[in-house]
Amino acid sequence: MQSIASPTGAASPTTFDGRPGLLDMRGRALRDLRISVTDRCNFRCTYCMPAEVFGRDYAFLPHAEVLTYEEIHRLAGIAVGLGVAKLRITGGEPLVRRDLAALIAQLATLRTPEGKPVDLTLTTNGSALRPLAGALAGAGLQRITVSLDSLDDTTFRRMNGVDFPVARVLDGIDAARAAGLAPVKVNMVVKKGENESSIVPMARWARDEGLILRFIEYMDVGTTNGWRLDDVVTAGEIVAAIDAELPLEAAAPTYRGEVAGRWRYRDGSGEIGVISSVSQPFCGDCTRARLSAEGRIYTCLFSASGTDLRGPLREGASDDELRRILEDLWGARTDRYSELRSAATSHLPRVEMFAVGG
Ligand code: SAM
Ligand code: SF4
Ligand code: SF4
Repeated sequence: MQSIASPTGAASPTTFDGRPGLLDMRGRALRDLRISVTDRCNFRCTYCMPAEVFGRDYAFLPHAEVLTYEEIHRLAGIAVGLGVAKLRITGGEPLVRRDLAALIAQLATLRTPEGKPVDLTLTTNGSALRPLAGALAGAGLQRITVSLDSLDDTTFRRMNGVDFPVARVLDGIDAARAAGLAPVKVNMVVKKGENESSIVPMARWARDEGLILRFIEYMDVGTTNGWRLDDVVTAGEIVAAIDAELPLEAAAPTYRGEVAGRWRYRDGSGEIGVISSVSQPFCGDCTRARLSAEGRIYTCLFSASGTDLRGPLREGASDDELRRILEDLWGARTDRYSELRSAATSHLPRVEMFAVGG
């Protein structure tokens, strides 16, 4: 382990945000934990869970192998004690898990070593937000990110793989706003030949609606989506397409470690973000760990395998023992897959995004 300041001790001069924390081999503090609450999903997005691979007989995790809410709460509490300040609930589709608001209510009670509430947010495909947004907000969810790849119904139905109408996601976004989960963030994955023509309409719509829109380069996560570099619409191409119609200028990052590059409309009407994990990797500032639904911890989205926490947890490990596993894992971390991405890395085994949590 390179260096570790006690999470309850004095601020470490080596962390970029000045908070004490656990550092990996490249000096990156553990700050974010993405928690996948299920590997199941009601969509079959072409870039994530292609329907040809994830058919009716696909074996998702049996219920007994998925962490309970109590187990998730305990592990999240230990991670927060080590310096995590932001929890993002994801999946699979997190809203397909029953009574998710009960988990939100538990996580909302967590406090950082400095006594602050954790930043608690959720990423969803938005399909079930209408009935659930109120309960989630009531349980303490602060913000929400909705994935939406096009406003064009035909394009959207094709990309989600299950013919789901875009109007229902838009209605879900309205429900989230009405419940106070604002500002709503919207993520759009751009894939060549599928939805480039939706870039500018999405930018106009988000600006007019006051939504925070972030474009995401199509990534080579997992091994089932048939990713090719040729299918990536780069951040530069996305910005150029918008700039041609709605002039943009670069904006400074709001904080170190922000994954989205920020661009502002020159007329002052808002801004967009672009997540360029392929064309301009940001591993140097990556402070994220991921907890899969079955209780494995991954220190990189492109890891081949994670470290099991469910086994020790169910065998009666103490908080100190679980904390030590996390400390040792993060302390030894050297991950920077996106910076090393090349022909040589393209065939390495890696976990699927729906399994590890996006
Ligand atoms: N089901 C939820 C959703 O779609 O928002 C949460 C899980 S999903 C795996 C999290 C995010 O990963 C989504 O915004 C999705 O668009 C993104 N994603 C999935 N596969 C991707 C890929 N190959 N490249 C880039 N982003 C991807
Ligand atoms: Fe499901 Fe989200 Fe993956 Fe789409 S991106 S298949 S909604 S987990
Ligand atoms: Fe972080 Fe791994 Fe992505 Fe790099 S490739 S930004 S280390 S998750």
